[in-house]
Amino acid sequence: MPPSILHPPSSQVLVTGGAGFIGSHLAERLLRDGKSVVVVDDLSSGRMANLQAVSGHPALRVIQSKISACAELAELVARAECIYHLAAAVGVEMVVKSPIHVLETNLHETEVLLEAAAPHRTPLLLASTSEVYGKSQKPAFSEEDDLLIGPPHQSRWSYACSKLMDEFLALAYAKEQSLPVVIVRLFNTVGPRQTGQYGMVLPRFIAAARSGAPLRVYGDGQQSRCFGYVRDTVEALVRLQASRAARGEVFNIGGTEETTILDLARLVIHTLKSNSTIEFVPYSEAYAPGFDDMRRRKPVVEKLARVTGFQPQTPLREIIRLTAGL
Ligand code: UDP
Repeated sequence: MPPSILHPPSSQVLVTGGAGFIGSHLAERLLRDGKSVVVVDDLSSGRMANLQAVSGHPALRVIQSKISACAELAELVARAECIYHLAAAVGVEMVVKSPIHVLETNLHETEVLLEAAAPHRTPLLLASTSEVYGKSQKPAFSEEDDLLIGPPHQSRWSYACSKLMDEFLALAYAKEQSLPVVIVRLFNTVGPRQTGQYGMVLPRFIAAARSGAPLRVYGDGQQSRCFGYVRDTVEALVRLQASRAARGEVFNIGGTEETTILDLARLVIHTLKSNSTIEFVPYSEAYAPGFDDMRRRKPVVEKLARVTGFQPQTPLREIIRLTAGL
């Protein structure tokens, strides 16, 4: 049976993790596009406050549940036009502190969702992570690269492995059961509503700069990252979901302007006209001893640009301003 018969057109979109930072921005965008949105989120790290701007919207429904405990899951995936699977345990600190929660959430919930979506061939976009590139020292990471994951004693890598298994499983469903899937590897994504609670650097730096507290830079601050603005990330997600050429493929999504964390701290202080100082914190104090940090992490986004005609380009200065609400 062709997928179009299995899967009649509707305007309802299912967003798992839709009360999270990226998920809530995506839900807002989909509602603006005239879609009906069903959010499934267990609010373990997501918050209803993230959806405040659209709360009460007639086309939004929020189901507070784990995917695996959602009684209506089969019905929802059968009716949905497509699924964005963003629900996951994230954040370096969460990963280091609660590895069982991270592994179970990322493996089991994805498995349940793929299994439910497969009979209906509901197009599914899986949010994976740049963490899967692990300790690779390449100056920029491409989707076809080998992946270099650290040893199992360091729980950071449990997150990378759990998301990588999700990628394998999604591609296996695509191959064996013709489930239309797209996999995205999200690089450091930032913007309003991101919490610093689970380790993310930019909301922490902005909060510190605002209150006059020191910005705590881990290690020597020479590690570098590329920050992508959440609105650009959402644009990429929507375009990839709509693209037939993207099906069965893996895409990096992220900014390409590289900055060291020390320069990021300086830029935040400058942009917010703050009197805060910068404090260097040894990794052994910031995380567990033996913690591996990546020296650099930059995406190659040519594949995304080729398939969607879009790539994130908001400059870092602008990203900081927008994130700080200036
Ligand atoms: N970092 C920092 N101070 C903080 C939080 C993070 O210096 O309060 C550093 C962290 O060690 C890493 C970079 O900032 O090198 C980005 O950290 P984040 O957790 O935001 O993302 P990651 O790239 O590690 O997934």
